[in-house]
Amino acid sequence: MHARFQSVWPQLSEKLQSALKPIIDDPDFSAMLTAEQVLQIKSACLYHDDELAFALLPLAAACAVTPISHFNVGAISRGVSGNLYFGANMEFSHCALQQSVHAEQSAITHAWLRGEKQIVAMTVNYTPCGHCRQFMNELRGNESLSIHLPGRQPAKLHDYLPDAFGPVDLNITTLLMDDIHHGYTIDSHDPLVKSALSAANQSHAPYSLSHSGVALQHKDGTIFSGKYAENAAFNPSFPPLQAALVLLNLSGKKLEDIERAVLVEGKDSILSQWATTELVLKNLGCQHIELHHLV
Ligand SMILES: [Zn+2]
Repeated sequence: MHARFQSVWPQLSEKLQSALKPIIDDPDFSAMLTAEQVLQIKSACLYHDDELAFALLPLAAACAVTPISHFNVGAISRGVSGNLYFGANMEFSHCALQQSVHAEQSAITHAWLRGEKQIVAMTVNYTPCGHCRQFMNELRGNESLSIHLPGRQPAKLHDYLPDAFGPVDLNITTLLMDDIHHGYTIDSHDPLVKSALSAANQSHAPYSLSHSGVALQHKDGTIFSGKYAENAAFNPSFPPLQAALVLLNLSGKKLEDIERAVLVEGKDSILSQWATTELVLKNLGCQHIELHHLV
């Protein structure tokens, strides 16, 4: 298993350890469980959905990258497909705290980037901050999204975020994780550019219409792409670089091993992700960063 899981492994019950070991020992384990694996583990351990999600939290929190706070938050999102997706917080030395990733954002973005259509439940080891409550309010199905916290009864997102301000207040009907294709093109055969373009075409930016996507090439050749996720309250918006970094991190790769990066965005968009994308990536040691414009 990946070294980051070893220190928390003893926190899992013996039953869960034996059901999970063949899955987590796979070198390609990408911090998610398919619906089929979830069913197998639940049946082997006699867990219901919530028990399994809580039991997995130490593994999710072990994926955190927290050079500033050393405070590891783990989250598990459950998709409508039945798949479970890990999420963990991330911080970036020498960058503003606004560049940080919260565990709930990580678990939702993880699910979205793996093709999940809707989140039905979120389990977290600490109560969601206001920022994350607002971020989750952007999701399709936000009114029925259930929140599970240690020692609390399950509740709905809107129990934690009463009188919410959200997309509906701005007459926005396309929500986060909805299927969408903006129809942009770029004349390039470069796989990294094509991957960033695909992410931009699926990005959620109904407020600024400044669609963007990022693709990162790891030194082993693997490509990770991230879609921009805008929010009705603006500040909880999630940049495309952070989305790609979530996927890279949860796939077990090191942030310092990014060889090349591409951001695509509109030339005349009212927003640009370029300056902060370049800053964060340079601080991670990536020197080959390109900007390509959408057509
Ligand atoms: Zn948060």
